Amino acid sequence: MAVKKSDRKAGIPKAKYIFITGGVVSSLGKGIVSASLALALKSRGYRVTTLKCDPYLNVDPGTMNPFQHGEVYVTDDGAETDLDLGHYERFIDISMSKLNNVTAGQIYESVIQHERDGDYLGGTVQVIPHVTDEIIFKITELANSHPKPQVVLIEVGGTVGDIESQPFLEAFRQFYLRANKRNVLFIHLTMLPYISAAEEVKTKPTQHSVTKLREIGLQPDIIVARTEKPVTQEIKEKIALFCNVNVDDVIEGITAKTIYEVPLLLEKENLAKNVIKKLGMKDSTPDFSNWNRLVQHIKEPSENVKIAICGKYIGLKDAYKSISEAFIHSGAALETKVEVVWIDAEEVDKGKVEELFEGVDGVLVPGGFGSRGIEGKIKAIKYVRENNIPFFGICLGMQLAVIEFARSIMGWKTANSTEFKKTRYPVIDLMESQRRLQQKGGTMRLGAWACHLQRGTKAYEAYDYELIHERHRHRYEFNSVYKEDFEKAGMVIAGVNPDEKLVEMIELPNHPWFVGCQFHPELKSRLSHAHPLFYQFVKASLKHKKEREGKEWSENAIAEG
Ligand code: GLN
Repeated sequence: MAVKKSDRKAGIPKAKYIFITGGVVSSLGKGIVSASLALALKSRGYRVTTLKCDPYLNVDPGTMNPFQHGEVYVTDDGAETDLDLGHYERFIDISMSKLNNVTAGQIYESVIQHERDGDYLGGTVQVIPHVTDEIIFKITELANSHPKPQVVLIEVGGTVGDIESQPFLEAFRQFYLRANKRNVLFIHLTMLPYISAAEEVKTKPTQHSVTKLREIGLQPDIIVARTEKPVTQEIKEKIALFCNVNVDDVIEGITAKTIYEVPLLLEKENLAKNVIKKLGMKDSTPDFSNWNRLVQHIKEPSENVKIAICGKYIGLKDAYKSISEAFIHSGAALETKVEVVWIDAEEVDKGKVEELFEGVDGVLVPGGFGSRGIEGKIKAIKYVRENNIPFFGICLGMQLAVIEFARSIMGWKTANSTEFKKTRYPVIDLMESQRRLQQKGGTMRLGAWACHLQRGTKAYEAYDYELIHERHRHRYEFNSVYKEDFEKAGMVIAGVNPDEKLVEMIELPNHPWFVGCQFHPELKSRLSHAHPLFYQFVKASLKHKKEREGKEWSENAIAEG
């Protein structure tokens, strides 16, 4: 139900607000800086939340090609969101919701709905004030949500000067005017290019980008300068002078060996300390010892294992962002470097599978849509099943493991998913509720669903819980009509949704580690809590490697070492 326009002018809830903008170029890691600052504040005992503002006109990234946008990050409440929300969760270790991401598409959709409802009757609907009010409303909505945050970090995508992001920046300016100014802070992230001929970093693009920001009425309080080379005091002074900030508020954002080191580096640069001081908050000494230990494991692992991801979007690694990060988390916990080998599923279809997977000790087949590369992935699954190589199938990966099993073990040669082909054996099929749907956006099985795990399975062993909740994003399902046939043939149904009886997890008992899940476990892995399935999969892969090399290995040896 639309809220009346009058409600859109709601007051600004009591909280501290930190706006984070970017300049010079995109992809500077604004999300990582925001997440790092949020972690630093949370580690000091503050209740923190974050809002990512995306200036594109899609209502959400759910309908975008992964090549356009990278991964779609799904929240517990079923929102399809920007992948920066993944960084927030992985760093701050709190679950995001649909309130934590807003797109220009949503803003305009809502404004137009109000117009149709007659909420602006008699008025001309304009970017200022209607669109900007709506943006401010979204910020206040998050600030009023439960548990009530003490600090709200608001990050806007893109760079200053983009046409699309202007209404957001204008809304931030108005927000500042309306709020208690002592509670609002602006951080601007820029880049210092290194010119090798001059052997120095250049501040001019930063100066220009701050000028651009000031043209629209925003003066940054703090500048984080992304750089490949250390920033000298002299450079900091120059930035301070030209950009109108204190020299201590010019923060070096040097490229780190791992993104998880960024909070530690920014801590040394006093980013959080300065923020706290400026916002009149109480400071304390945060305990980063566990984080530090995990970062050390990432930087100096004692083991190494090669795991292949066999997918179709491998040209853009961001399409599998959460999976890559989940490997880093499990690797950190096991003091192991997980070297990811990207294998194009179409190459597998054409080539020799044993050559492509040589030296690989685990294979993950991730989620995906559409028929391209399907047969290559099935060929890869057959190879790892027959050769006892640890296998992890996620969403589409699980569906393909089911198809491969039906074809090879049950003799149903034409078994398939109805997503790809009409078949006599639709072992993966649409549920009735999905068949009726016409609209594409936001209509998949989305968000957290319960899953009951069978005792005695590898899944149960991994979680050590009977009832788990994991996030979904798919239309097709294991066709329950064939459940008994699969069980008779030796497949174990390890997890089932207790309400709808949907099959959520499968595994093969006579294999070192062959597990598939219909959900996306990677979305819930965090550095401080590696996901149990990824952890067990990496462990099984490491074991496979040691056995292949004829070496002894035990998990304890790592923990003690
Ligand atoms: N295309 C499959 C489905 O819609 C799998 C989706 C996925 O892997 N996320 O069910």
